Amino acid sequence: MFGQIPHTPYDLHFEVIGIPVRVHPGFFLLAAILGYSPGWASHLHVNLLMPILLFTIVVFVSVLIHELGHAVTARRFGWPPHITLYHFGGLASYQPTYGYTPARRVLISLAGPGAGFVLFGIIYAAEQYLIRNHVAVTPVVGYLIVQFKFVNLWWGLLNLLPIYPLDGGQVAEQVCRKINPYRGMENTFKLGIIVAVIVAIFAWQRMGQTYMALMFLFLAFNNYQFLEQTRGRGGPGSPW
Ligand SMILES: [Zn+2]
Repeated sequence: MFGQIPHTPYDLHFEVIGIPVRVHPGFFLLAAILGYSPGWASHLHVNLLMPILLFTIVVFVSVLIHELGHAVTARRFGWPPHITLYHFGGLASYQPTYGYTPARRVLISLAGPGAGFVLFGIIYAAEQYLIRNHVAVTPVVGYLIVQFKFVNLWWGLLNLLPIYPLDGGQVAEQVCRKINPYRGMENTFKLGIIVAVIVAIFAWQRMGQTYMALMFLFLAFNNYQFLEQTRGRGGPGSPW
């Protein structure tokens, strides 16, 4: 992935349905940067800290549900998982032991966005229920509904893009290795570079999303580095 995530004295540790979770302080930094929104603060008539706090709750719950999707599936296959939330989002780690198959890897990868889509469905259904029954919600609850829907739908869809190490990239890895076992990883990284550059250009030019464009440029650069490393090792037999 992006290397080991260092332990700090400020890490939070807890368990959800028996799965250990560690929260690196960098996760809150990420949430604060993404949640900073003077526009929302004035729309809600609150100070600047409020959208940051609310968005942190949205990201915390959503990323945790996403990672639990991966982790619960891995545990079903008998591979004990643990979850880390950090400055790039979340990570569900597990050590595949017996019974490893590419299909199981693909299922674990898809289960993350899948869990998010289920949460999106629940929030959407709740929102429709409130609308049908003419229940007025406070601006803060309205903000939470909008952001929960946005994060769980759109982050899930972006995560399914075939860019390593996103979930879709992990699925692409299994497909590329199946098609060509010797050049599977090389082709995965090449595909990752092409798709990430296209998304970055689209995000920057069409959507005006500078942060998203930078993130995908970073992913493209990451895949370029992985590609160089794979070539350096002489292709076949690389541990990817
Ligand atoms: Zn995931």
